[in-house]
Amino acid sequence: AIALSKKVQALKPSASIAAKQRVTELQAQGRTILDFTLGEPDQDTPEAIIEAGVSALRGGDTHYTGSAGKLDLRKAICEKLARDNAVTYTPDEIVVAAGAKQIIYEAFAATLESGDEVVIPAPYWVSYPDIVRLNGAVPVIVECPPETGFRLTPEALEAAITPKTRWLIVNSPSNPSGAVLEREHWAALIEVLERHPHVAVMTDEIYEKIVFDGIRNCSPVSLAPGMKERCLIVNGMSKAYAMTGWRIGYAAGPANLIKAIIKLIGQSTTCTTAFAQTAAVEALRGDQKPIADMVAIYRERRDLIVSMLNDIPGVTCSTPGGAFYVFPDIRPLLGRKGPDGAIDTDLELVTYLLDEAGVAVMDGTSYGMPGFLRLSFATSTATIRSGCTAIGAAIAKLS
Ligand code: PLP
Repeated sequence: AIALSKKVQALKPSASIAAKQRVTELQAQGRTILDFTLGEPDQDTPEAIIEAGVSALRGGDTHYTGSAGKLDLRKAICEKLARDNAVTYTPDEIVVAAGAKQIIYEAFAATLESGDEVVIPAPYWVSYPDIVRLNGAVPVIVECPPETGFRLTPEALEAAITPKTRWLIVNSPSNPSGAVLEREHWAALIEVLERHPHVAVMTDEIYEKIVFDGIRNCSPVSLAPGMKERCLIVNGMSKAYAMTGWRIGYAAGPANLIKAIIKLIGQSTTCTTAFAQTAAVEALRGDQKPIADMVAIYRERRDLIVSMLNDIPGVTCSTPGGAFYVFPDIRPLLGRKGPDGAIDTDLELVTYLLDEAGVAVMDGTSYGMPGFLRLSFATSTATIRSGCTAIGAAIAKLS
């Protein structure tokens, strides 16, 4: 064996990737598992995007690109930001990487010093606190309970900021809660941020396109002129265009930070896949109808899963405004007895549901909110129907 660094020994594996592995193992043993842990669209990349990728490959698009990403893609991203988000950027304020995840990682690596603080509203995406810690900084978790619609309030933000705060990271629409910060929510948060100019803001807008019922995600950069110089907008192709495996994410932000991220990419991965970048141009400039079609499908599934979960006594599921997850409150079930004794935590409930019902769900604890579960509805209505029925039956057996 070769000795590992302290920082890597302290790093937790990604809970969602671990769950995926567990499900795969159980399936390999021949067990039928209804899987609600998926963090990605179950649909395939739209045909026109695949065609663009294939013809790029055939046309010799097989070489390194610049570390910022192809100019044409950065131009297409600027057009997208102007069109969809009402924000103005030039290609030198854009960087392309192997997913939004790499962007978040490099942005923190580029800015954090040991002891710096990053404000993370909970429930949060599993990777944020670990990426922050890996870069020597301290995650400051702010609870955003169902009573506030799982949204960060101005009061909670104000209370979390200290002289050491470097970043606030906000994921809207949220994985795992589905909460969306709209215009009015950001306007209230910006009032607080204006009193604390030392705090930069990272907005992870990866689920931006997956919103329901006329709800609209908002980029704070579009609301106040002072925000552009302190915000990093993070987005990517994974969720909107069902392109998780292509690994294309991007950021828009102040040129000095973008340059620093480009430098890190230049010394780590060089660039992300060339032909995937070309396909991403087609995704951004081409027909956007596949997104609307996917959102219509997600909406139907959302309504089904919310209503089936709410029919289970002891489970309360709020209706998410965006993304493809529900985050039901299961606290009333804790303390009930199962075959192996009391179920006291959401983690124990997850194990029970897997063993008893053959249903795989994520625990709220991994997302910084114990007493909740996360279920992805990026899965078929048949799975949702049988899964929720099986969950209800397993829960009914608890005493
Ligand atoms: N941010 C959030 C909130 C996510 O849920 C995910 C993926 O699950 C990502 C970022 C990563 O996206 P990408 O595939 O672009 O790295």
